[in-house]
Amino acid sequence: MPRDPRFDVLFEPVRIGPKTARNRFFQVPHASGMTNAAPHVRAAFRATKAEGGWAVVSTGACSVHPSSDDSPFPCATLWDEADVRAHAVMTEAVHAEGALAAIELWHGGAAAVNRTTRHPPLSPSGVPWMATHVGFMSSARPKVMDGADIRDLIRWHAEAAVRAERAGFDILYVYAGMGYLPYQFLMSDYNHRTDAYGGPMRNRVRLVEELIDAVREATRGRTAVALRISLQELRARPSESAPSEAHEVIGYLKDAPDLCDVKMDYSATDCAASRYTPEGSHEPVVDFVKTLTDRPVVGVGRFTSPDTMVSMIRRGVLDLIGGARPSIADPFLPRKIEEGRVEDIRECIGCNLCISSWHDGTWVRCTQNPTAGEEWRRGWHPERVARDGRGRVLVVGGGPAGLEAALTLGRRGFEVALADRARAFGGRLAWESSLPGLNQWHRVVDYRLGQLARMPNVALFPESDLAPEDVAEFGGDHVVIATGARWLARLCGANELPAGPLEAPRVYTPDDLAAGALPEGPVAVFDYDNYYLGSAIAEHLAGRGRAVSYITTAGAAAAWGFMTNEQPLVHQSFARRGIALRTLQIVTGFDGETLRLAQIFSGEETRIGARSLVIVGYRAPGSTLHDALAPAARPGSLHLTGDARAPGAVVHAVYQGHRTARELGLAEAEIVLRRDAPFAPRDVPLPEVAE
Ligand code: ADP
Ligand code: SF4
Repeated sequence: MPRDPRFDVLFEPVRIGPKTARNRFFQVPHASGMTNAAPHVRAAFRATKAEGGWAVVSTGACSVHPSSDDSPFPCATLWDEADVRAHAVMTEAVHAEGALAAIELWHGGAAAVNRTTRHPPLSPSGVPWMATHVGFMSSARPKVMDGADIRDLIRWHAEAAVRAERAGFDILYVYAGMGYLPYQFLMSDYNHRTDAYGGPMRNRVRLVEELIDAVREATRGRTAVALRISLQELRARPSESAPSEAHEVIGYLKDAPDLCDVKMDYSATDCAASRYTPEGSHEPVVDFVKTLTDRPVVGVGRFTSPDTMVSMIRRGVLDLIGGARPSIADPFLPRKIEEGRVEDIRECIGCNLCISSWHDGTWVRCTQNPTAGEEWRRGWHPERVARDGRGRVLVVGGGPAGLEAALTLGRRGFEVALADRARAFGGRLAWESSLPGLNQWHRVVDYRLGQLARMPNVALFPESDLAPEDVAEFGGDHVVIATGARWLARLCGANELPAGPLEAPRVYTPDDLAAGALPEGPVAVFDYDNYYLGSAIAEHLAGRGRAVSYITTAGAAAAWGFMTNEQPLVHQSFARRGIALRTLQIVTGFDGETLRLAQIFSGEETRIGARSLVIVGYRAPGSTLHDALAPAARPGSLHLTGDARAPGAVVHAVYQGHRTARELGLAEAEIVLRRDAPFAPRDVPLPEVAE
């Protein structure tokens, strides 16, 4: 189909200094967790986006010098020749797909505490970054940079710029955002200097200007130089000479870079979960930038709607549509708009499992796109599968795993029947996406049902509760069981080991609530699952007028939500909704009127009144249907997948469903699993040691 002319503006080329982007789609720097240790994995991940139509494809942060070491977080480097080779694999792959390659040169300053390289962290004035947050906590306090340190920093950027150009990059970033070293110079909280780099904003901006100049001079203007800057805090601060400090900074820097990449300051606002933050949330902070500079401006906002993108251009907010998460969920987003296939876009759901991968120290995972990170290792492409399927497959269970399995099997060419006992497909998401803030998660279901509806070789059977005899009667070549897991009404012991079943009135699990139960108040939600569901249920019950106490074994609400940037927002939401929070507690008993609690370390007992208890704890895998079928001698193959095999988050169910479908019918030798390896570092002569 031809593309909608409304979207033509998105496909105009944009000049960025000496380079030209073929359209307005710009994959801004984002963490992939793929360091130089996995150069081919990284290259394939990034090049897939170039193939999908992104005009610029960027790396994540690349350290310019060992004094900026983010370990144990995955951290790419550009320190030596081995690093040049590692990055060149990516730039070659990106260029081959017709896109420009950008590199985010990065010095973390006090925000990178150099756990491996053991350099003292550098800072303008010795103020630590977020030292109170356990994820970034360190006992190392930063060194105050003297004049020589500042000259070194500028030189390291210039040397890294030379290496970056040799590695094939077209656009070189100076990174003054997210708490990193140049940002610390901009902010009066971190910069107490009395020299030419401190004091008034004119001085605080000097380092950033000098870094931009140094990078430009190092490559003699052959590469474009981009400035990435966080403006949230600066915009909130008054200035004597401008509407805010952000206006003042952009005023000074307006002619310095070839491109301005503008963003928020903190992971939780910059990469905000959809649970609490809508598409386009950066606009109120960055909307003024284009009024002050003629340079092209790129910004993000989890844009998946082409209409919103067009509006950002037409209203003069942005020149280039930045994408990080939308490009992970659908590397082919630009192409789909270009080819008039908007309904094929696999929209990001804003769950932030991707950023959790970085916090976990591993390659990026995506709930919507199971192929992310597997392009090279498993040879999975987000849009293509081998069309090698022969025969009929019955998929039982139409949750995330079953839907993904049916879709991928359908694409392989199998005749697929997908059955679910429920009237609506979607499994756990059918109900969970009705909880406060989770409606965008239903995109997992919408995308797959939309695709399946157009596949002539896939038939859908809702309201079909299948027993073993029904499966036998179907008589297909393969059966995939994706029947999900069950939540257990069990308490846990002090070490969160499972305790026996709880015999008491008005005890509920999420499955009971999904089936329509509405517990009497006051209600206690005991969460030792510690991801999103316990807190979402607490919000749901508060919204239905119940007095809610949320109790958790962890030290914070939705403790694992730290990994997905949700946790601070969950606490704010609890405060707004009047949900009482009790941390570091286990529930030791409940009789329908009183809940007994014990502090997990001291054992100190408390009692609170509650008429009902919701337990969000363990889920049991397994499937009676699968177990009944397994021993029977039957032709074809039988597969157990998704939560029925091993309960997990939706990301795991989609991934397992995809993998089951990709591998169904293949011999072990046909399944690809490649191991990547880093390039050997250049030999560095060791210092002479006296005998
Ligand atoms: P997953 O996350 O692994 O996809 P879900 O729990 O989200 O698991 O989905 C499992 C789906 O399987 C549910 O929609 C449920 O209705 C369906 N289901 C379970 N048992 C049967 C059965 N015997 N026949 C048909 N559908 C079933
Ligand atoms: Fe979007 Fe979630 Fe995928 Fe991240 S993991 S790109 S937030 S769908």
